[in-house]
Amino acid sequence: MSTDYSEYERDFFNAVDRNTMAEQSIFDALSNIGDDQYYTLFEVQAEHVCGRSTIQVFPERAGTLYRCLNCGMAGIIGG
Ligand SMILES: [Zn+2]
Repeated sequence: MSTDYSEYERDFFNAVDRNTMAEQSIFDALSNIGDDQYYTLFEVQAEHVCGRSTIQVFPERAGTLYRCLNCGMAGIIGG
Protein backbone atom coordinates (compact mmCIF):
# COMPACT_ATOMS: atom_id res chain seq x y z
CA MET A 1 0.00 0.00 0.00
CA SER A 2 2.69 2.48 1.00
CA THR A 3 4.77 1.43 -2.05
CA ASP A 4 1.81 2.01 -4.31
CA TYR A 5 1.29 5.39 -2.78
CA SER A 6 4.95 6.31 -3.34
CA GLU A 7 4.58 5.35 -6.98
CA TYR A 8 1.45 7.47 -7.10
CA GLU A 9 3.30 10.40 -5.58
CA ARG A 10 6.38 9.93 -7.76
CA ASP A 11 4.25 10.01 -10.88
CA PHE A 12 2.65 13.23 -9.67
CA PHE A 13 5.93 14.95 -8.80
CA ASN A 14 7.58 13.79 -12.05
CA ALA A 15 4.74 15.37 -14.00
CA VAL A 16 5.13 18.62 -12.04
CA ASP A 17 8.91 18.55 -12.68
CA ARG A 18 8.44 18.04 -16.42
CA ASN A 19 5.99 20.90 -16.59
CA THR A 20 8.21 23.16 -14.50
CA MET A 21 11.18 22.43 -16.79
CA ALA A 22 9.04 23.12 -19.86
CA GLU A 23 7.89 26.42 -18.39
CA GLN A 24 11.50 27.31 -17.56
CA SER A 25 12.44 26.55 -21.18
CA ILE A 26 9.67 28.86 -22.43
CA PHE A 27 10.69 31.50 -19.91
CA ASP A 28 14.34 31.25 -21.08
CA ALA A 29 13.23 31.70 -24.68
CA LEU A 30 11.64 34.98 -23.62
CA SER A 31 14.65 36.27 -21.71
CA ASN A 32 15.80 38.66 -24.46
CA ILE A 33 12.56 39.91 -25.94
CA GLY A 34 12.09 43.62 -26.43
CA ASP A 35 9.59 45.86 -24.70
CA ASP A 36 7.59 46.10 -27.93
CA GLN A 37 6.91 42.34 -27.78
CA TYR A 38 4.90 42.59 -24.58
CA TYR A 39 1.15 42.30 -25.14
CA THR A 40 1.68 40.79 -28.58
CA LEU A 41 1.23 37.20 -29.68
CA PHE A 42 4.26 35.52 -31.22
CA GLU A 43 6.03 32.16 -31.36
CA VAL A 44 9.21 30.79 -29.77
CA GLN A 45 10.96 27.42 -29.95
CA ALA A 46 11.20 25.69 -26.59
CA GLU A 47 11.46 22.28 -24.97
CA HIS A 48 7.93 21.41 -23.94
CA VAL A 49 6.71 18.29 -22.07
CA CYS A 50 5.95 16.82 -25.52
CA GLY A 51 9.43 17.60 -26.89
CA ARG A 52 10.95 20.38 -28.95
CA SER A 53 8.04 22.48 -30.08
CA THR A 54 6.78 25.80 -31.31
CA ILE A 55 5.08 27.66 -28.49
CA GLN A 56 2.74 30.61 -28.90
CA VAL A 57 3.38 33.18 -26.20
CA PHE A 58 1.68 36.35 -25.08
CA PRO A 59 3.89 38.04 -22.50
CA GLU A 60 2.22 40.33 -20.01
CA ARG A 61 3.90 42.13 -17.15
CA ALA A 62 2.21 39.85 -14.64
CA GLY A 63 3.00 36.62 -16.47
CA THR A 64 3.18 34.89 -19.82
CA LEU A 65 0.27 33.14 -21.47
CA TYR A 66 1.36 30.24 -23.64
CA ARG A 67 0.07 27.47 -25.85
CA CYS A 68 2.05 24.57 -27.25
CA LEU A 69 1.29 24.10 -30.95
CA ASN A 70 2.31 20.45 -30.80
CA CYS A 71 0.24 19.07 -27.91
CA GLY A 72 -2.20 21.96 -27.45
CA MET A 73 -1.51 22.45 -23.75
CA ALA A 74 -2.01 26.04 -22.64
CA GLY A 75 -1.44 27.93 -19.42
CA ILE A 76 0.20 30.87 -17.75
CA ILE A 77 3.71 31.23 -16.36
CA GLY A 78 3.72 33.59 -13.43
CA GLY A 79 6.06 36.54 -13.78
ZN1 LIG B 1 3.57 20.44 -25.94
